[in-house]
Amino acid sequence: MQAILTINAGSSTIKFAVFSVVGNELIKEYVGLIDQILKKPTIQITNCSTQEKRKHDLATSEQDPYGSAISAILNWLKQQSIELIAAGNRMIHCGTRFKDSTIVYDDTLNYLETLNPLAPLHQPYNIKGCRILRETFPDLFQVICFDTSFHTTCDKITQLFAIPQKYAKEGIHRYGFHGLSYEYVVSQFDKYLGDRANGKIIVMHLGNGCTMCAVNKQRSIATSIGFSALDGLVMGTRCGSIDAGALLYLMKNKNMGYEELTKLLYRESGLLGVSGISADMRDLLASDSPDAKLAIDLYVHHIVHWIGALSMELKGLDGLVFTAGIGENAAYIREKVCEQAAWLGIKIDHEKNKCRTLEISAKDSRIGVYVIPTDEEITIAKHTLELWKKSRA
Ligand code: ADP
Repeated sequence: MQAILTINAGSSTIKFAVFSVVGNELIKEYVGLIDQILKKPTIQITNCSTQEKRKHDLATSEQDPYGSAISAILNWLKQQSIELIAAGNRMIHCGTRFKDSTIVYDDTLNYLETLNPLAPLHQPYNIKGCRILRETFPDLFQVICFDTSFHTTCDKITQLFAIPQKYAKEGIHRYGFHGLSYEYVVSQFDKYLGDRANGKIIVMHLGNGCTMCAVNKQRSIATSIGFSALDGLVMGTRCGSIDAGALLYLMKNKNMGYEELTKLLYRESGLLGVSGISADMRDLLASDSPDAKLAIDLYVHHIVHWIGALSMELKGLDGLVFTAGIGENAAYIREKVCEQAAWLGIKIDHEKNKCRTLEISAKDSRIGVYVIPTDEEITIAKHTLELWKKSRA
C-alpha cells in the first residue's frame, strides 16, 4: 500500500501516524507514540483497524536518544508492507520566510533553526525529526506543515506589538500556534455545530501547550498566543502572558540571563511553577493541596480572561469548543470555565459534560458548547498529499 508518514517530534515525545493513500482519500492505518525519550522510553503502536495496541520499552542510545527513537520508527516501517511515498512533519514556527506548508529543501531547515529561541520546547525537536528522516531516506518527498499557517488570516492589528515598527518589519509580531489542530477542529464544524458552523466560535486547545483561537466563518481572526510559544494562557510549564517589566526586573535585580530566564519561563512556570507539584492536570485535579487549587484557579482565570478578549475580537459569540488533552478529558475544567463565563449566556448540561458527548451545552444555553477531539496528524497528512500530488502534476 502507498502511504504517508506523519511525524510530530517534541522534547519528550514523538507522535507518528501512517495513512494509506487511496486516490484522494487518506485512511489512518497506525498511530504511534514514543514517550519519555530522555527517561524511560517506550513505544506504543496502535493498529487503527483492529485497535490492537503494542507497547514495549525502547532501547535508545545515550549519545543520540532522538536519533535512535526515530530510527526505531523507521525500522518498524520497513517491516510493514508499506510503500512510503512521502512524510509530513509538524513545525511550530514558520518565521518570516514561510506561510503555508512547504517541501523540505537543503536550506529550509537551516533557516527554521534560527527560530529555535522562539519555541525551545518544540522547534529544535521538530527540526531534528526532519533531519533524521532526511538522512535515513534522502530521496523521500518530505513536507513541513506549520502551526502558524492557519492564523495568517488574522487582521494585522491583532498581530502588532506597540514597539517601533521596524521590529515588526523584521518579523517581531504575533503569529499564533496550534494551527494544525485548529484547522482540523474547524473542519468538523459543519458536521457538529449545525447552524453555528459559520458563526463566531472560540476554540480552546488545552493540552501541555494551551492556546485559544477566535474563529469567524471558519477562519482564524485572533489568537491568545504570539511571537513565541510563551504568550497567552497558563500552560503545563510555561507562564503565559507576563508583564515584560517583570522580566526586566529579574534581569536587573536577580542577575538572570537568557538561559536562566528561558528555563524559568518555559520549563519551571505554568501549572508546575504555581503548584510546585506537577505540570500534569491529572495530578493537580487529584491533589488536595491549596497550591494545586491555586494553579487550577489561575489556569481557569486566564482562559476566562481570553474568552472575554476574543469575544470582543469576534464582536459576538455563538460557540465554545474544547479540544486536546485537558479540553477533551477534564470535565471539571470545562465546568469551571463555563461557570465563570455564564454571564455571556453559557450554560452546560452537567450530565453531558461528564460523559463528554460532543455538544455539552444545556438546551436553553444561548451559546453552544462542544468537545471536539483534535487530530493534527490528519491535517499534516492532507497537506503532504496535496504537495506530493502537485509535485507530480
Ligand atoms: P500535548 O500538548 O503534549 O499534545 P495533550 O493534548 O496530550 O498534550 O494534553 C496533555 C494534558 O492533558 C496533560 O496536562 C494531561 O494531564 C491532560 N489530561 C489528559 N487526560 C486527562 C484527564 N483524563 N483528565 C484531566 N487531564 C487530562
